[in-house]
Amino acid sequence: MKASLLHIFQEMHRRQRPRSPVPDLMVEFFPFANVNNTIRLRDGRILVRISDLLETAPESVLRAIAHILVAKLYRKPITPSHAARYRQYVASHRLSAKVHLIRQMRGRKRIASPHGDVYDLDQIFDDLNQRFFHGLLGRPQMTWSQDHARNHLGHFDPAHNTIVVSRIFDRKKVPRFVLEYLVYHEMLHLKHPVKLKGTRRCVHGAEFQAEEKLFPQVEEAKRIIRAL
Ligand SMILES: [Zn+2]
Repeated sequence: MKASLLHIFQEMHRRQRPRSPVPDLMVEFFPFANVNNTIRLRDGRILVRISDLLETAPESVLRAIAHILVAKLYRKPITPSHAARYRQYVASHRLSAKVHLIRQMRGRKRIASPHGDVYDLDQIFDDLNQRFFHGLLGRPQMTWSQDHARNHLGHFDPAHNTIVVSRIFDRKKVPRFVLEYLVYHEMLHLKHPVKLKGTRRCVHGAEFQAEEKLFPQVEEAKRIIRAL
C-alpha cells in the first residue's frame, strides 16, 4: 500500500466531514477482475479496496477515487470535476487495454496450457488425429479448464478455435481412453460444424452420431464419465 494513498483518503474524509474525526482507515490495492473499488464501514473502521489496475494512476485520479468513495459512503453529492477525472482515466485507452489483458488472464476464458499433471492434451489430440482422422484435422488451441467444472466436461469453442477439457479428467484414476473419448467427441464438433436445419441448430447430427460410434469403448467411456 502506498502511504500517500492513506493520506489522500484521510484528507478527502476531512474535506467532506470537517467536523468529525477521521476514523481508522484501511486502504489496499486489490486484484479485482476489472476496475472496481469498494468502501465499507465496519466496527467504526473504514475499509477501502482499490483495483490494482489503478496502482499506477496519477495522484489526481487517486484523489478523485477517494473523493467518490467517501461521498458514496456518506451519501453525499460527488463533485463533477472528480467524477470527470476518474471517468476520463478509466476510459483512457491505456487502461482499457490493461483491463482486457488482465481479464484474459484472470477471467473465465483465460488460455491455459495443454499440459496437465497427468495428460498432455496436444498429444491426445495428435494421437486421435492419426488414429481416426488420417491426421487431417488442424489442431486447435487445447486447454485444460481452470476449475474442476462438472457441468462443462468438454467443449469446442469455434470462435476461439479452442477445445477446453475439464480438469477433472487430468487424474491418474481417469483411464486414458475416457479422456480420449471426450476429446474425440470435441474433435467431431471440429469436423462437423453446427448446421442449421430450418431454424433448428443441429449439434449432434446423424453423421456425427454415426462417427462417434466408431470410437471403440464409447459405451464404457460414457459410463465412467457419468460416474465421475
Ligand atoms: Zn457435443
